[in-house]
Amino acid sequence: MSGNAKYSILFEPVKIGPVTAPNRFYQVPHCCGMGHVRPQAHAAMRAMKAEGGWGVVSTEECEIHPSSDLSPYAEQRLWDEHDIPALRLMTDAVHAKGALAAVELVHNGNHAANMLTRAPILAPSDMSVDFAYPKQARAMDKSDIREFRRWHRAAARRAKQAGFDVIYVYAGHHMSLPHHFLLPQFNDRSDEYGGSLENRARLIRELLEETHEEVGDTCAVAFRFAVDEMQGIDGMQAHEEGRAVVEMFAEIPDLWDVNVSDWSNDSATTRFQPNDGYQIPYIDFVKQVTTKPVVAVGRLTSPDMMLSLVKRGVVDFIGAARPSIADPFLPQKIKDGCIDEIRECIGCNICVSSDNLGVPIRCTQNPTMGEEWRRGWHPEKIAPKGSQEQALVIGAGPAGLECAMQLAKRGYQVTLAEARKEAGGRVLAESHLHGLGAWKRVADHRIYDLQQRANVQMFMQSNLTAKDVLELDIPNVFVATGASWRRDGIGRSSHKPLKIADSMQILTPDDIIAGKMPENGPVVIYDDDQIYIGGVLAEHLAAAGHKVIFMTPASMVSPWTELTLEQKRIQKSLIELGVTIHTNQELAAITSAGCKLACTYSGQAQDIQCGTVLLVTERIRHSALYDTLKAGKTAFNTLELIGDAAAPGLIADAVYAGHMAARNFEEDPQKVAQQLFKREVVSLQ
Ligand code: ADP
Ligand code: SF4
Repeated sequence: MSGNAKYSILFEPVKIGPVTAPNRFYQVPHCCGMGHVRPQAHAAMRAMKAEGGWGVVSTEECEIHPSSDLSPYAEQRLWDEHDIPALRLMTDAVHAKGALAAVELVHNGNHAANMLTRAPILAPSDMSVDFAYPKQARAMDKSDIREFRRWHRAAARRAKQAGFDVIYVYAGHHMSLPHHFLLPQFNDRSDEYGGSLENRARLIRELLEETHEEVGDTCAVAFRFAVDEMQGIDGMQAHEEGRAVVEMFAEIPDLWDVNVSDWSNDSATTRFQPNDGYQIPYIDFVKQVTTKPVVAVGRLTSPDMMLSLVKRGVVDFIGAARPSIADPFLPQKIKDGCIDEIRECIGCNICVSSDNLGVPIRCTQNPTMGEEWRRGWHPEKIAPKGSQEQALVIGAGPAGLECAMQLAKRGYQVTLAEARKEAGGRVLAESHLHGLGAWKRVADHRIYDLQQRANVQMFMQSNLTAKDVLELDIPNVFVATGASWRRDGIGRSSHKPLKIADSMQILTPDDIIAGKMPENGPVVIYDDDQIYIGGVLAEHLAAAGHKVIFMTPASMVSPWTELTLEQKRIQKSLIELGVTIHTNQELAAITSAGCKLACTYSGQAQDIQCGTVLLVTERIRHSALYDTLKAGKTAFNTLELIGDAAAPGLIADAVYAGHMAARNFEEDPQKVAQQLFKREVVSLQ
C-alpha cells in the first residue's frame, strides 16, 4: 500500500448488507442548497467526494411525497418517477469514482410546511408547524399511516431504480415523521402508535421491515437514528430510551448511522463545542448492542482519532459531513501519507448557513465547494501558469494567503508581503477571541503549504508603500490589505457619523483584538453589524470580568447566527454571563455620561450610563495603497484589489476572493469580466 500503512485499517472494505463499501470513509447525508433544484451541481459535488476517497457518499434529505415539501429549501425529491433522472446523475457520477451512493429518504411531518404543494401537514398529533407559518399539522389517522408507509416503500423502490446502494430510514434531527412518532414531546396518541416505547417505535419497525422487503435484495437499509436529544431528562437520552431503541432493532438495519439531535447539536460549532469527536460519548454503546456496522460523526478530522475509534470498536465507519466539505480529499490524503495537507474543518457552519438560505453550499476552508460543476473548480487541481512569471501579493490575511497559495500551485514566483509579525490577518486576530480558537486553522493550513514551496518568498513586518511596490518591479500585484472597524458610528442604521463626546472612551473590535480593554465600566457594546463579532466580543469581555451592556437595533443578539445554528446559544451564553441586553435600540449619540438611545419602532428616547462604548458597526476598506498604485504612472500587467479591501464580508468571502483571483489570473479578460458561470436553466418543454 502506498503512503501511510499505519492507517491501513481505515482503507479496509466493509460489508453493509448486500453491498460492500470500498473503505471506512462515509460521507453521511448533509444538506447543500442544491437538491432537486441544481441536480448537475449536486452530482458533481458528490462525485468530488467520491474522487477524494469517500467510500460511501450520501444525498441530503430526500422528500418522498408532496406532503413532505420543504420549499423554499433546496433538498432532494423522489415524489414520483420524474425525479429519478436527476438523482441518477449523482449515482452514476459517484459510482464512476468507485464509491457507493446512499439516499436519505425523508418525510418531514410538521417540519415541512408544504408551502409549494399546499398539501395537508402531517404529524403524530395535532400541532403547529415547525416554522413561523400560519398553518397546523393534523394528527395522522390509521389510513394516513398506511398511506405514509406505502409512500415510503414506493420511494425506496424509486431510489433503487435511481441506482442507490444504501437506502435510509431516518429518525433524527427532530425533522422526520418516524422521529416524531418516537418522541413523547411530539406523540400523545393513545392507539398502538403511542404510549409505550414499543408503540412509539412501531412505525420505525414497519418502515425498516418494509424497506428491506422492497429493496433489501440488492440495497442496504440504513437507519439514521439520533440516540440523544441533548435535553437531559426532558428528552430521549442515549443511555436510557436511546439504548432501548438500538436494542429493540439491533439486527434489523444493515447499518446504524447514529448521532445526536437536534441539528444544532449534531452540527455544533467549535464556538460552543470545541472538541472534535464530541458525539462519541453518546454513541459509544451502539456497537456493543449490534453486530451491524456503525457510522458516527462529530467533526472527526484527526486520522489518529479515526484509527483509535475503529481499533477500539467504537465505529466501523468514519462519518463526516463538514470534514468532507472542508476537504473532499481527506481520505486520499491519509492514504497518501499527506496528513499535514488536510484542510481541517473549523466548525464555523458557513456551510450550514448556505443551506438555510437556499443557495449552493460554500465553505470557509474550501473555496471550491459548490463550484465543482458551475465553475469547474477542483479542490486539489488548478491550471498551470501562463506566460507571466512573477506575482506580488500584499497582505497575508485569508484573501492574500489563499491567493498566494494558489498562485504558487500554478507555478508562479510568488512574493507575499505582510505588515505584521505573523501571517493570518483577521483570522489570526479573531482566533484570539472567546470560542474562536479553531478558526486559526484557516491560516495554519495555508501558511504550512506556502512554507513547503520553493517558489514562494514570504516577508513579514513589511508594510509596503506604493514606492516599495514600484521598487520591487513585479508586474502582477494582488492587493489584499483588508479592512478595519469604524470608530465614527456609521453602520447599518446610520449613514452619518454619530455625535460622540471627546471624553468618552470609544473602542472598536480591532482595539479589543489588539489587547486594549475598557478603562471604565460598564462597557456598552453597540452591535449595528448584527453578524457574529458583536456577540463574540460581549462574551469575551464578560468572561474577562467586565460589566457589559449589549445594545442592538436588531430584535435579538447576533441575528445572522440563526443561519449557523448558534443564535440561541449565543443569547443564552450572554444571559448566563450576566450581560444586560437591550434590543430594538438605535444609538443616537454618545455623551460624556453614556449613550442616548432611540427605540427602532417608536423613536422613544432612553439614556444609558456607561464608562466605555465599543462600536461594532461597519468596516473601512484599506484600499489606499491600491488606489495610489492605480492612479500612478506605472502600468501593471495586473493590479487587483481582493478580499476585505475590495468588499468586507465573511472570512469565507475573503478566501473565495483570493482563490478566484488566482484562478482568473491570465484568463481571458472578457470571460473574467462577464463573471458568468454555468447555470441550470429550467427546461421549457
Ligand atoms: P482579508 O480578509 O481580505 O484577507 P485581512 O484584514 O484579514 O483581510 O488581512 C489583511 C492583511 O494585510 C493584514 O494582515 C494586514 O496586516 C496586511 N496589510 C495591510 N496593509 C498592508 C501593506 N501595505 N503591506 C503589507 N501588508 C499589509
Ligand atoms: Fe467546516 Fe466551516 Fe467549512 Fe462548514 S464552512 S465545512 S463548518 S470549515
